[in-house]
Amino acid sequence: MTSIQDLHQQLINKERSAVEITTEVLNRIEKFEPKVQSFLMITGDQALAQAKTVDEKIARGENIGLLEGIPIAIKDNMCTKGIRTTCGSRILENFVPSYESTVTQKLKDAGAIIVGKTNMDEFAMGSSTENSGYHTTNNPWDITRVPGGSSGGSAAAVASGECVVALGSDTGGSIRQPASLCGVVGLKPTYGLVSRFGLVAYASSLDQIGPFGRSVEDTAILLQAIAGYDPKDSTSLNVPIPNYLQSLHPNFHTRSKLKIGIIQETFGQGLDNEVKESVEKAIEVLQDLGAEVQVISCPRFGYGLPAYYIIAPSEASANLARYDGVKYGIRNEESANLLEMYTKTRAKGFGTEVKRRIMLGTYALSAGYYDAYYLKAQKVRTLIKEDFESAFAKVDLLICPTSPTTAFKTGEKTEDPLNMYLSDLTTIPVNLAGLPALSIPCGFDRQNLPIGMQLIGNVLKEELLLQVAYAYEQATQWHEKRPIL
Ligand code: GLN
Repeated sequence: MTSIQDLHQQLINKERSAVEITTEVLNRIEKFEPKVQSFLMITGDQALAQAKTVDEKIARGENIGLLEGIPIAIKDNMCTKGIRTTCGSRILENFVPSYESTVTQKLKDAGAIIVGKTNMDEFAMGSSTENSGYHTTNNPWDITRVPGGSSGGSAAAVASGECVVALGSDTGGSIRQPASLCGVVGLKPTYGLVSRFGLVAYASSLDQIGPFGRSVEDTAILLQAIAGYDPKDSTSLNVPIPNYLQSLHPNFHTRSKLKIGIIQETFGQGLDNEVKESVEKAIEVLQDLGAEVQVISCPRFGYGLPAYYIIAPSEASANLARYDGVKYGIRNEESANLLEMYTKTRAKGFGTEVKRRIMLGTYALSAGYYDAYYLKAQKVRTLIKEDFESAFAKVDLLICPTSPTTAFKTGEKTEDPLNMYLSDLTTIPVNLAGLPALSIPCGFDRQNLPIGMQLIGNVLKEELLLQVAYAYEQATQWHEKRPIL
């Protein structure tokens, strides 16, 4: 599969039609899905109908936008009007939204072709896509391994060319960690940059929608299409959106010397040696490109994980209270009374991890425990934010590994939730502080599994993140390597 810009050129030069491009992608889906299983739903007919509209527009001699006719996949926690949206959960197996999420509306308006809804950990809770209520997704680089999660379906679909770009959501790392494990680019925007209207809520003070691409350029194009103020989302930021694509340049295009800080605390215990070496080599490349590098300490970074596992489940326990068999999804009909109907529906509809989080969150928020757990976790969150603030007083960007390991074997961590939670050690603090961050391929281990590095920016510094990632990408070849399926 080629880049968005190349496909766009082919379309306007009439070398290929949108129907041909979409058909090629649908054929790849048919060929690779038995191995990878990225999708929960494939919307082939609608996609071809949309593609036909684009072709008609081209035939009429009208101008088309960059995303017009480009096949895209959407994580199944974004509402698509008339198309089933399950959030990876059995409790929503029959839920067909009556409205469109802002991001999918924007993509439709831009002429992008939605080819399907991708698999995910149930309600976005997980780091491997093994918590899906439907099936697991396999890593395209080695199908005995996980693609990461919770947006594992989107990351695997992009990596295997079952779409050109995809949307994911990131509450504690769910875009960046699967991007890293699948060898693609994934960006979690600043909290509030992308509207969450129509995103099924997990932990509302942390959730963000963001793009996946096989290159920084494709990622920038998709971010451009979805970013911006939305009056339907009360947390949406009303700020000007830069032209991300125009700012990409093979050299750092900054006025003064770019300063990058290596987060000391992320290079310690638990970090795989090959990951460490690859990220260190990437730092050397950035230095050769002219960046000034220094080691930065974020002493409270390590408390991100425990604080997150109080805050996220607490918010989830409140958000998931709406699935009671009355308003959405499935209902247990064999109940003697209302309370029994609630409990039986929830017992049947939710999976193990979701139940664990609801219990954790309900406990942490219960009378007498609020101050001891939730309030304390929020205070820790402020301290983590302060660490980032003092870091950004010294440097422009921070760098660290995205994930401490490469893709692990399916089933390896399912019996050990705490070990699974550690997958997001370096991504979670970013969500707690509401910052933007991006994962970009920076090497492969001896088993030919991709390694990713994370670049973290200050609030609304997406443009700088993309610029630096682009310069790095142009100086290296990692993004050219594709999995053999
Ligand atoms: N793995 C983390 C969790 O399980 C993060 C998930 C996410 O970002 N949605 O909560």
